[in-house]
Order: sequence, then structure tokens, then C-alpha cells
Amino acid sequence: MKKIPLSKPARETKITIVGAGPVGALLAVILGRKGYNINLLESRSDSRQHDIYQGKSINIALSDRGWLALESVGIAEQVRQAAIPMKKRVIHTIDGTITEQAYGKDDQAIWSVSRAGINEQLLDLAEKEASVELHFEKRLTKVDFNTAATSFSFDTPQSKGHIEVDADYTFGADGAFSKVRRLAQETPRFSYSQSYMPHSYIELSIPGNENETGDARFKMEKEALHIWPRKDFMLIALPNPDGSFTCTLFLNYESNNKAEHSFSNLKDRNSVASFFNENFADAMPLLENPVDDFMAKSANPLFLVNVDPWVINNTVALIGDAAHAMVPFYGQGMNCGFEDCRELGELIDEYQGEWPEIFPAYQKQRKINADAITELARRNFIEMSELSADSNFQLQKKIEAKFHQLHPELWVPLYSMVTFCPYLPYSQALKIGDQQKIIMAQIMQIPDIDKCWQDEFIYLKLQQLVQKHFKKEENKNV
Ligand SMILES: Cc1cc2nc3c(=O)[nH]c(=O)nc-3n(C[C@H](O)[C@H](O)[C@H](O)COP(=O)(O)OP(=O)(O)OC[C@H]3O[C@@H](n4cnc5c(N)ncnc54)[C@H](O)[C@@H]3O)c2cc1C
Repeated sequence: MKKIPLSKPARETKITIVGAGPVGALLAVILGRKGYNINLLESRSDSRQHDIYQGKSINIALSDRGWLALESVGIAEQVRQAAIPMKKRVIHTIDGTITEQAYGKDDQAIWSVSRAGINEQLLDLAEKEASVELHFEKRLTKVDFNTAATSFSFDTPQSKGHIEVDADYTFGADGAFSKVRRLAQETPRFSYSQSYMPHSYIELSIPGNENETGDARFKMEKEALHIWPRKDFMLIALPNPDGSFTCTLFLNYESNNKAEHSFSNLKDRNSVASFFNENFADAMPLLENPVDDFMAKSANPLFLVNVDPWVINNTVALIGDAAHAMVPFYGQGMNCGFEDCRELGELIDEYQGEWPEIFPAYQKQRKINADAITELARRNFIEMSELSADSNFQLQKKIEAKFHQLHPELWVPLYSMVTFCPYLPYSQALKIGDQQKIIMAQIMQIPDIDKCWQDEFIYLKLQQLVQKHFKKEENKNV
């Protein structure tokens, strides 16, 4: 018997997307190409016409999940033109020693891309779709969670007022501080939690060498993510195509003890200058006015949110940071948001445009994975800030890399599963990673492991442990 469609055909269906950040813009392209009528509304001005970033270049690490989504809309090659591969972490220890850790195999890298640049490229792409309309300087104020109708205010030098937008469905792609999500908290049975990390962050900059061309403009190794791990705090730097590096300092917002460094303890120029000189001596000649910047900037908070459900009344859904703002320590926030969009697009095809089926499937498939990467990102601060300078940790990474080389079918390091295996769900990566942790703890207990780590018996033991552990897991699942 032929199934009677529950949803209208795409060309008769109106969808509102709130927020034209990277996720909202990509979603508009995907839905627009399926024939839906899209209104994409954004509170800020169009950055392609107004310098809303004040010349600041903020970059972000794009990895294989993000690339896969960009490939699906045919824009990956264009984005890659202005992206810089970061093949390794370069670790700057406090005594000035520099060590390196490859992120994966020789041909694997995470990529430094401009957040504004990628957003603008996606907006250009969305604008080319006949069924997508972009509206800037429209701030969402209300959502009707039964009908998907929304209201937006506008207040420009030319005019002021508000507009009503009717739709069949609405997506909240309005970021970590989502208004759609805040309004959804007034709907029945909506669970929401927000946890602040002890750390906040500020952005600093290392300018490129003037009067130089090509790679000579870079004051440090170009194709790398630089880290100055200092246990409770850290500085990182990602390269930009103009030879500069965008740096982020992550530091506790406050501390109980006056001797501990924190944004609230570092109040005067002298203590800020000593903090930088003592902890980041090799970066000091490179950074542009770090003390002035530190004094002038307010620290941005870091938080993660947990939301359930992501879909309300099969009418309004959250996507990207609005659904799963996470801490940035795995470099996956935007990658995960792009994956939301790609997988939603596949579900639309799988369920032939039947939204009463698409929405529950979207919630089921994406939430478990967003929860997993949110947890992994939370844990990764410790790995980045403390362990990456720890010799045991580095040894463990070497053993894992060697075992992976010998037996790629038995072992893929957790970082590689998250970053370079775009078809492996984050939730699977988390589960396998937890098993690997137990196994590696046993290996690291082997007497004199630092001397015998290259010996064959270590890898035979690893093989046995993997087979035993994963067999046990399989049995548990039967
Ligand atoms: C320090 C830091 C480093 C990061 N590094 C990485 C990284 O290396 N890799 C990675 O993948 N991710 C990283 N992230 C996360 C990444 O920035 C986000 O996941 C990504 O920007 C989310 O995209 P989005 O489109 O969901 O939200 P956003 O980029 O926040 O866009 C939301 C849009 O909605 C608009 N908006 C908000 N409210 C309204 C309203 N009421 N009405 C209309 N429009 C509205 C906003 O103006 C904005 O344009 C990092 C984040 C931080 C803070």
C-alpha cells in the first residue's frame, strides 16, 4: 500500500533558520538544495559588507568531520585554499625546550581556518540558492513552539520595528547563548543545564614578519598548533595565512589562593608582566603587547550546555552550539555542528522529507554523539594543559602510535578516532577510548617501560589485552 505523505513537498515547505553563523549558513545550503523555502535571519550586520570583526582574525581547527560536511556541499576545496594544515603539536616547555607530537599519520592534519572566512564562504553559497533568503540585523525575540512562527526585532539608523515570520519548521542555530533555547526552557518537560569551567580565555596575537614573503613571514613553525602547557593554564597559537598566529590564553577565572595565577589575581601591570615572563618566556619576544591586551580585555567564560530534547513539538529544533555548546579543548564544536547538518540532510533523504520521522531520528542520532564529544572536550583540557608536557604521557602516545602502525585494525588512538575518522560516531570513539585507557594503564605499569617500549613483547601483550578486552565488551553487548 502506498504511504500517504504526512509532510508537504519541499517546495511548499517554509523553514526559518535563526542565526547565520557557520552552522546556520551550512544548514541553509543543505535545506535550500533540497528545495525547501528558507528564511535565514541573523542579528548582526552582514560581515561581508561591514567590518564587524574589527580586523581581528580568529581561527579555528577544522578536521575531517567538518571537511566531510563541506565536501557534501562542494565547498571544501575553496575553503582549503586559505587553510593551513597543522600536522603536529609543537610543545613549548617552561625551560624553552621544544618537542613535537604528530597528530596522526604523515598525511593527516587538522587545519587552521578563519572562523569569519568560512562563515562568509558559506553565506555566499547560501545566497546562490534560489530558495534561500538572507536577512541581517534581525534579532529573534519570540518563538511559537506550536506553529514555528517567530518574531524578530530590528533597530538600525534607518528603521526600527519588528517582523513576524511564519514557517512550517524553525531551527535555532543561534549559538552558545541561543535565544531559541532560552525560550524553549519555558516549554513543558524541557531539561537544560549549563556548567561553567573554572577557566576563561582571552585572545592574543603574534604578528607576522613584515617585509618578508612566503613562509618567512611566520615567526614560528607554520604547519603546527603551538602549545605552552602549564598545568592549570595554557597558551595555544594557530597560524593564519598572513604569517600571524592567533593565540588563546586559557586561565582560571578566579582562585582561592592568592599565589595561584588567575584572571582575578592578575590585576596590575607588574604582576601580569611577571606572569608572562615567567611562564611564556620564549613567546614574549613574539607576542604583540600581551600585557596591554591582558589588561584591556575581559576574560570570556567557557561553559558547556546540556539540552533535552533538541526538538520541541516536532516543529522547532536546535542545532550547532545552540544544542551542544562545549568547551573548545578538542577543537570539535564547529566540526560537530557541521556533522549535525550533514547527518540531518541524510535523514531527510532517508525519511523522504517526512518531518514527523526526521525530527525524532535527528534527536536520537545526534544527541548521544554531541554528549560524547562534549564529555571528551571537557576531559581534553587535562591532556592538553598538563599531560602533553609529561614524559609518561608522551611515551604512552609513542607506544599507541607504534601499535597503531603495526595493527591499524586493532588500535586507532582516541584523538585519531575523533579527528580523522569522520564516519565513526563520537559515542563509539568515547567508548573505545575508555577501554583503551584501561589497557594502556596496564602497559604503562610494565617495569622499565621507558626502556623496553620498543620491544616486541610489549606489542604482543597489547594485542592480547585488546583481544581480551574487546571480546569482553562484545559479550556484554550480546
Ligand atoms: C575559544 C574558542 C575556540 C574554538 N575553537 C574551535 C576549533 O578549533 N574547532 C571547532 O570545530 N570549534 C571551535 N570552537 C567552537 C566554534 O566556534 C563553535 O562551535 C561554532 O562557532 C558554532 O557555530 P554556530 O553557527 O552553531 O554558532 P555561532 O558561531 O555562535 O553562530 C550563531 C549565530 O547566531 C546569531 N544569533 C545569536 N542570537 C541571535 C538572535 N537572537 N537572533 C538572530 N541571530 C542570532 C549570532 O550573531 C551568530 O552569528 C571554538 C570556540 C571557542 C569559544
